[in-house]
Amino acid sequence: MTILAIVVPCYNEEDILPETIEQLRALRQQLIEEQLISSESKIVFVDDGSRDRTWSIIYRACLRHEEIKGIKLAGNAGHQHALLAGMFAAKQMAHCIVTLDADLQDDIYVVREFLRKFHEGYDIVYGVRKKRDVDSYMKRWTAETFYRVMNRIGVKLIYNHADYRLMSRRAVEALAQFREVNMFLRGVVPLLGFPSTTVYYDRKERKAGVTKYPFMKMIRFAFDGLTSFSMMPIRFVSVLGFCSFFVSILFAMYVLFLKMTGHTQTGWTSLMMSIWLVGGLQLIAIGLVGEYIGKVYQETKQRPRYIVDMDLLNGPMIAARERETFSEEGIS
Ligand code: UDP
Ligand code: MG
Repeated sequence: MTILAIVVPCYNEEDILPETIEQLRALRQQLIEEQLISSESKIVFVDDGSRDRTWSIIYRACLRHEEIKGIKLAGNAGHQHALLAGMFAAKQMAHCIVTLDADLQDDIYVVREFLRKFHEGYDIVYGVRKKRDVDSYMKRWTAETFYRVMNRIGVKLIYNHADYRLMSRRAVEALAQFREVNMFLRGVVPLLGFPSTTVYYDRKERKAGVTKYPFMKMIRFAFDGLTSFSMMPIRFVSVLGFCSFFVSILFAMYVLFLKMTGHTQTGWTSLMMSIWLVGGLQLIAIGLVGEYIGKVYQETKQRPRYIVDMDLLNGPMIAARERETFSEEGIS
């Protein structure tokens, strides 16, 4: 029978985590009873370098429940990398992997639909939000603009799909072959090319805690997504550069003509304007070129995307250091 692993990235989620653990355990139990998954299925929490009690909550849950597993990253590697860490750690034991946010915003019972689709033969099942009216206006607007821009420039994104999805083991194996450091999962997964389908669900409000994607981080995320997938912005700048070059030739001819006909008082305003215009264009161009060079720089370094501190899924249950800290707190 299908062994499922549910991977949950957690960054400072102490407020919601106990609830999440209980709900996911209940879900797992129900799916087992419905004979959709095997009892070997696990729930894997990835602690993305949290600074609150997140890891100790995960750790305790691991001690108490056989089906809960935890992975602790050594630092904050970011949502995408935490997802990768969990998926790559779980791909040995599971036939399929579902990734899910810790905040219970996405209806967890949709996993049942995911599994049905998986059994029908799909390798990738995308969870797609029906509507986003619980999100703030700003969040909705930025997200929608992002999808629109990405599609316009030719990156195939699934509209309103966040990182709530099911992937078969072979899809995750294929994903592991993508060595880029700037991994933008929503863009890469559709590139895998395996049979895929979508399942619709309602998105709820975050139950507790605050969003870990404040405005600036979201803009950064969107910009990363854009520049890791498309050369369009840099081409746009080149076209702009050519246009302004052409215009400046015409302008030079005009100035020469004025000079030859004796009208030497060429306008100070237009001169200043052109200096500013060209200067501005050059700055934009340099900035964008820098963005891509930065990407090349990051990729050539070949740094690991995340560092695992502790792996309770594949490694030994209790590392010596951890046992010490926990006995200090009076828990053996
Ligand atoms: N997350 C993470 N590392 C980070 C930021 C977020 O693992 O650096 C996790 C977070 O704990 C949550 C998920 O990614 O489970 C999505 O984050 P959040 O709900 O804050 O984003 P939003 O739903 O507001 O876009
Ligand atoms: Mg959320």
